[in-house]
Amino acid sequence: MQHRRPTRPVYVGNARTGVLQIGGGLPNARGEATTPAPVSVQTMTAGYTHDVDKCVAEIHKMHAGGADIVRVAVPEKKDTEALKEILKQTTVPIVADVHFHFQRALEAVEAGVHKIRLNPGNISDRDQVNAVIDACKGAGIPIRIGVNEGSIIERRDKQKRVKELGAVFSAHKDGYLLAIMITKLEEYLDIFYERDFRDVVISAKSMSAPLVIDAYTEIGKRFEHPLHLGVTHAGPKETGCIRSVVALGTLLANGFGDTIRISYANDPIYEVEDGLELLWSLGLRERVGAELIACPTCGRIQVDLFTLVQEVRGKLAAAVRVPMKVAVMGCVVNGPGEAEGADVAVFAGDRRGIIYVQGEKVANVKEEEILDRLLEECLKFQDMVDRGEAKLGEKKVDIVPPDPLGELGSGWEKMAAARIGAGDGGATELTIGRS
Ligand code: SF4
Repeated sequence: MQHRRPTRPVYVGNARTGVLQIGGGLPNARGEATTPAPVSVQTMTAGYTHDVDKCVAEIHKMHAGGADIVRVAVPEKKDTEALKEILKQTTVPIVADVHFHFQRALEAVEAGVHKIRLNPGNISDRDQVNAVIDACKGAGIPIRIGVNEGSIIERRDKQKRVKELGAVFSAHKDGYLLAIMITKLEEYLDIFYERDFRDVVISAKSMSAPLVIDAYTEIGKRFEHPLHLGVTHAGPKETGCIRSVVALGTLLANGFGDTIRISYANDPIYEVEDGLELLWSLGLRERVGAELIACPTCGRIQVDLFTLVQEVRGKLAAAVRVPMKVAVMGCVVNGPGEAEGADVAVFAGDRRGIIYVQGEKVANVKEEEILDRLLEECLKFQDMVDRGEAKLGEKKVDIVPPDPLGELGSGWEKMAAARIGAGDGGATELTIGRS
């Protein structure tokens, strides 16, 4: 899993933002050996770049949320003019997203942007591309070549291209598209190589997860440049998340991908949060903050666990820095096993919760006190970790499940008698979700 495909490293940023390496494993331009950098997370602002205050506020929010790189659209001259001020007020590498007008790229470089994104589908004139390459070379900044499926196809001669190229990747469902993306990329890269410009990152996005997987895999085998992974127009967060995780997770697990952008029709902060969670889940980045484990709930539940989990999640995100594991379990049946390895855990019973820290029971509280007490224990544990008095992931003693009848009063007998929720007077009536 930890195998990363070696690439030429690309560097983004400056002394002000810090210099971020993308990819690595092959020698850099100075011939120095490199190791692959941690996979970085990108997002893109949703507002107008020329609205400086709002754009800066959005960039700050993304950066604070964990974005390593932020991209901004520069469709008009007023957007590239705003860049100078935006760059002064921000401390994260900024990429200018350029389409149709190569002059925007030149203006963005002049403004001091840290990277340019070009689309071969709409800036293909050789002289224009050369002008951008020369400007970036002069400024010492890289270029991402983004061969999005949606803008790469030359619609007029699509049928001809299908015939010519389809056979090349006939084993793939969308073989002709794959062939077009790779051919276009090769032609475009030749322009860069002719000018000895190699600070290039490649992306090949599509809305189809299988095509994304195939395209990046084929490109990754053919070129030594770092890959910027993404699924384009992935849709709303609810479905876009699945599509993105399937495509990006598969590629990352196979060693492909050096920087990622998950894209949703939603607040970009979710792109950052989910991108980080994906990398943490794959063990490709060191987790920042707590990792929350929670049971899915079932017919044994006797507290409002869905609400509790969301509240715990919010509190942990705001207050906990160290990557401790926190478990919120609905009952004691499978709880101890499922919470194995958690640093702080709560097992709920009949409107109560028993809290454990590294296996030691520290509290037995009413349902309405669980949230505050759990957070208190998490913060105490964080302080102990900070002081070197506790080690993450250590279990001092095996969790001894609480007595369901006594300590938690979980109505075990009633469960066994299948009377829960059957209208037994309300004392132990089962309530799932928001009551
Ligand atoms: S921990 Fe208990 S309530 Fe939660 S899913 Fe497992 S058995 Fe059900």
